[in-house]
Amino acid sequence: MEMVESNNMSSFLQYLSKLTGFSLSLYGENGNVVHTQTIENRFLSAIQESSQGKDEYNKFLKDGIQKVIHRRDISLYKGPAGQYQFFIPLYFDNVNFVVTGGGIYLSLDEFREFYFRHGESYGLPPEQFHSWSQDIVIRDYKVIQETARQIQALLNIFLSCGSESSLNKRRFRLIKTILTLISDIDVDKQAEGVCEILTDILIFLFNADSVSVLIRRNDTFSPLKTAGRLKGYLQSHSIKIEGIMSEIVKHQQPLYSESMLDILRLGFNDEVTSLYAIPIISKDDVAGLLCIFNSHISREDADIISELCRVAGLMFRLIEVQDIYNKRINEIDMLNMAATHLNKIKEPEMLYDTIVDTSVHLADAERGSLMLMEDDKTNCLTIKAAKGINKRLMREIKIKPGEGIAGRVFQDGTPLIVDDIDKNEQVPFKKRPNYKTGSFMSIPLKIGEKIIGVLNISDKITGEIFSEEDIALLRSFASYASIALERSIYYNLADYLRELSVTDSLTGLFNRRYFEERFFEELQRSERHNLSFSLAMIDIDDFKLYNDTEGHLAGDEILKNIANIAKESLRVIDIIARFGGEEFAVIMPQTDKEEAFMVAERIRISIKERLPHTWKNFPRDAITISIGVAAFPYDGKDSKDLINNADRALYRGKKEGKDRTVLWKDSP
Ligand code: GH3
Ligand code: MG
Ligand code: MG
Repeated sequence: MEMVESNNMSSFLQYLSKLTGFSLSLYGENGNVVHTQTIENRFLSAIQESSQGKDEYNKFLKDGIQKVIHRRDISLYKGPAGQYQFFIPLYFDNVNFVVTGGGIYLSLDEFREFYFRHGESYGLPPEQFHSWSQDIVIRDYKVIQETARQIQALLNIFLSCGSESSLNKRRFRLIKTILTLISDIDVDKQAEGVCEILTDILIFLFNADSVSVLIRRNDTFSPLKTAGRLKGYLQSHSIKIEGIMSEIVKHQQPLYSESMLDILRLGFNDEVTSLYAIPIISKDDVAGLLCIFNSHISREDADIISELCRVAGLMFRLIEVQDIYNKRINEIDMLNMAATHLNKIKEPEMLYDTIVDTSVHLADAERGSLMLMEDDKTNCLTIKAAKGINKRLMREIKIKPGEGIAGRVFQDGTPLIVDDIDKNEQVPFKKRPNYKTGSFMSIPLKIGEKIIGVLNISDKITGEIFSEEDIALLRSFASYASIALERSIYYNLADYLRELSVTDSLTGLFNRRYFEERFFEELQRSERHNLSFSLAMIDIDDFKLYNDTEGHLAGDEILKNIANIAKESLRVIDIIARFGGEEFAVIMPQTDKEEAFMVAERIRISIKERLPHTWKNFPRDAITISIGVAAFPYDGKDSKDLINNADRALYRGKKEGKDRTVLWKDSP
């Protein structure tokens, strides 16, 4: 945990608590506390005031921590007070950590049952039931589980942020995950909550010194939420729209200044040494301002922050239009639901269909299509999904950038909204006879600056033209859809990479697939150049017994150790792979059987010497292996014969008492 400043970790946990409403603690693998409860859980504290409660709870925690480190996956356990607590295993810098949180009940009934049955033994009098029941947290099982997953994802990205070089990519992923979480937050808390999260993100993830989110009212920006060192000071500091502020409003562009004069003119005192102000745009107008004080912001960071301001813009729209609040809430709600839904789809075809269906639904339209740029040399947009359009026709359509409406939107990267195609001079197309209206929208899908496709919507069910609201909603949805599309591309890439992978994840050795390729190559090469080579098959002795008496995890450790030792004992030209469960195969190029015997013996002896006392629960000295060797061309001319004969030699070794190397000979 050295890589991550422990202070930062503590702030991040606080922040996650705020985001999720769960109290979180961090423990080391022996149950030692690294950070205690971020929010006090009064009920759990009360229970621990009785000595019975304290002992039980400590034992519960210790057990939970041990179990989850072995399970290596999020677990939800029921504690001594009938409360649920999740345990999240984390592995960082070769050390296990566990974050626990909760103290949650699934229902009031469940809490009541615990309270009246066992409350008194923990010193909880029945008459206090009502007041305690106001204090406890009740959540659905699924919600707890999902939130725990999100917390784990965020913590993992957070941990890796500190330690690896592609910091910005990670940060960006972190923020995306946070945005997904935001979309799950209660709608009534949204404006407040989102605002708070935005300022927190800047403080924790961008190490900003101080931050203020301001809302525009006539000729003034007034603070809505402040955070950081100057939090108190900034809270009472409005900014008049004049001087450089008028420039920001006029050009709708961010501005950075370290000029003392600028800063004093805005009315700040000398605690402010620099100011980075980014306009928050809503409905094409500046509705608010994000100010970051006394902080260095890199170019890449600035890009991510602009992205965040776009979300803030959405939120400002929400605050701005209180009068049509209900209608909007409904829309934002739909948008959030749609976004959450999109995030769960991994199958590309299904994702395409859902994007079209949802956008058509959001805009009350009848027709829609999704076009994506093909990832090949043709450099064409093709239709991936469509509604209200002939499917057969759809497959034929290929559009070059700049061609037609969609092609043009793709090239320019700006949405095209047309009230009536027949009356629009910019568009040299006419309404097709089977379309109800001439009103349509075409919106580019962007990932950062890269445009990946176009979303087209036409024919409103009511026959009206598309409204400002439809457009705003669809543009917001398009940004969610782009994120989901990127994610699906990323997933497929991950699958592809896994398939290409040549290593085995447990031992780090080459995997079987790679071994077979290399083995085949070696056969061909040796045949061509009249060379010999040897193959050794290694199998651990009595490994089943080891697993049974010492546990499967200890078994895995042995596999890793053996792999490392074997690798060290080999020459650089040799290739070792994990052939199966506890079997390894070694290819020794240009090596005859006698030389191979010496190499094999070196491995066997090192393992025996370097892994003593590995049997703890069973009277044995050391872990040993048996090895069978066969050589090309004497013991076989193809891979099947060679592997078979090395295996038979190995089998003979086992029969003769194990812990030995046996060379294949036709006759015993
Ligand atoms: P022998 O001396 O005859 O080889 O006896 P053995 O018990 O080793 O017998 P065998 O080679 O058939 O045993 C294979 C055992 O290896 C079965 C399984 O428990 C264990 N094993 C296989 N793959 C793994 C693994 O990935 N991890 C662990 N821990 N154990 C494994
Ligand atoms: Mg075996
Ligand atoms: Mg074995």
